[in-house]
Formats: sequence, C-alpha cells, structure tokens
Amino acid sequence: MKAIYYNGSYPEYRENHPVPERKSGESLLKVRLAAVCTTDKEVLKGYRPDFNGVMGHEFTAVVVESDNSELVGKRVVGEINEVCHECLYCRTGREHHCINRRTPGLSRDGCFAEYMVLRDENLHAIPDELPDEMAIYTEPLAAAYEIVEQIEFETGTPACVIGDGRLALCVAQVLHQYGAEVTVIGKHPEKLRIFESFAKTEQLDSTTMKIEDPAGTGAEIEPYELVVEATGSASGLELALQLVRSMGTIVLKSTYAGGADVNLSLIPVREITVIGSRCGPFDKALDGLTGGAINLPEIDLYDLADFEKAFQSRKFKSGFRI
Ligand SMILES: [Zn+2]
Ligand SMILES: [Zn+2]
Repeated sequence: MKAIYYNGSYPEYRENHPVPERKSGESLLKVRLAAVCTTDKEVLKGYRPDFNGVMGHEFTAVVVESDNSELVGKRVVGEINEVCHECLYCRTGREHHCINRRTPGLSRDGCFAEYMVLRDENLHAIPDELPDEMAIYTEPLAAAYEIVEQIEFETGTPACVIGDGRLALCVAQVLHQYGAEVTVIGKHPEKLRIFESFAKTEQLDSTTMKIEDPAGTGAEIEPYELVVEATGSASGLELALQLVRSMGTIVLKSTYAGGADVNLSLIPVREITVIGSRCGPFDKALDGLTGGAINLPEIDLYDLADFEKAFQSRKFKSGFRI
C-alpha cells in the first residue's frame, strides 16, 4: 500500500508498504482522509527520536475488518491513545496518561497510508450527516473540548486565546459555545479575521511580542480570568503570564520541541493556576461539528505522493485524500 513512512530522520513516500495486520480487538481501517497536525511537524523536527513508522494520527476511515460486526462498513474517527487498562493511570480514570499507551504516528503505525489498524474501543462512528471534510477535525477539536472538561467558568467570563491557528480557532469556538467573552490575540491579521464573527481580536507585534494599539489610545488591556495558550510555540507562556489576572487560570495547549525561558516565580506570587491540557472527548467534538456550534475552514487535500506539499501548505489545515 501507499504510505508516508518516517525513518527516524525524514519522511519517505512508499508504494509497497505492507498492509498492517489486525489483532483481535482491533479493526482494519481503509483511510479516507488524513490530516497533518502540528505534532506531525514536530516529529519531523525530532519530537519523537525513537519513532520509526507510518506517520499521522488524524483521519476518517471505513472499517473493513473487525471482530465487532457492527463496526464493519461504518465511517469512523479514532481516539489516538491505545491504553493498557492495567497501569496506575488506567486504574484511576486517567487512561489518556496510560504509561503503556500507543499512539498512531507517534509510537505505532499511523494513518498517512491506505490502511491502518486501531483498537475497536478507540473508534467512534461519524454521524451520517457529517461529511469527512468536517469529521476530520474531530481529534484536534476534542483537544479543545478538554478545557471545558477540566475547568468550569461562568457565562461572560473574560477569556483570552493566544494564537490564531487551527488549535486557537477550535479553542476559541468552544469557549464561545460555553459562554465565555472571548478575545483572540495573534500575529496574523489575515488569520485573525476568521475569529471576528464571534470574538474580539487583538494583533500582536511579532518582533516586540507586544499587543498593537492601532487606535493609539494607549489603553491598557484588562487582564483575563482565563488565558489559553495555543500558539504552538514557547513564546506563548510568557505572554499568558502577562495577560492573566492574579488568581486566574492559564491553560497550556501547545506541545513543542524545546523549552521556554519564563519567570516561574510569577505563578506562586500571583497565585496563578496553570493547567496542562491535551487530548479530549471525541463525543463532544462530533456533537459540536454535527450541531453547527463549530465551523472550521475547508481542509486542503493532496495525494500521499505529494506529502511535501501537504506538509508545507499554508492553508488552515492540510491533509490527504486517500
Ligand atoms: Zn493532532
Ligand atoms: Zn494503562
């Protein structure tokens, strides 16, 4: 089969990669769409030095073989953590943190291929009315819904999302859906425009990392009760510490290779709660997409052979039609 294989240093396009074999409890999936995630680009930068295998973890697929006959023929998306159900974290309701977990495209073969294998228990059927081109956003969107699993806030709570990319758009729409007063801070005026229908936007000067003041009023920005860092880079945490109220909450969503140089003493001195936030509930994400609470731009699709174009695409989201 065709596949994009990461050999430990760079991605290779292969035409004769073996079709994966399904074990009991797993389904064989024919991939329909696969999307490139920031995490995949981090893999290329060395985020997972030990990983060799088929890349990718965001997909829509059809189940072609499974022990569970009800799944066969279904269109599905898949949760990315395959867990052991036995370790400390699995036994205490924190399965996403299973120490033995395997993740497609990060520690087992992923979805940038014609076929993939995933545990039956990880699969969620896509509602008939939801097209693949939208269902493909389930996994990144689920990560945004994780925030409202982790914290509660009142309607009208001033919330700020730092970042103007994919994750930021998902997070901002979820916070808006749950009643927050959302402000989005980003570097790119053309990307910020997409937020304007439901959020306030502020432009960040990319060299000074200060918020621009086009009106020249010099008015100080009032700090926010909740700040979500969704820039995908280390610089967002420092800005989050400037923007959050004392005794407020910062949610960190970005994962990146490398460290951040920030004054952590601000956290105890100002009694700031910092929450790390990663994978989230697929059911809420599928509901949000199907019910129209979430609107995301069209994905930019390529053949697997054109993987370099897909990785370099400047569009909102890129991926593969397989
Ligand atoms: Zn992802
Ligand atoms: Zn476990």
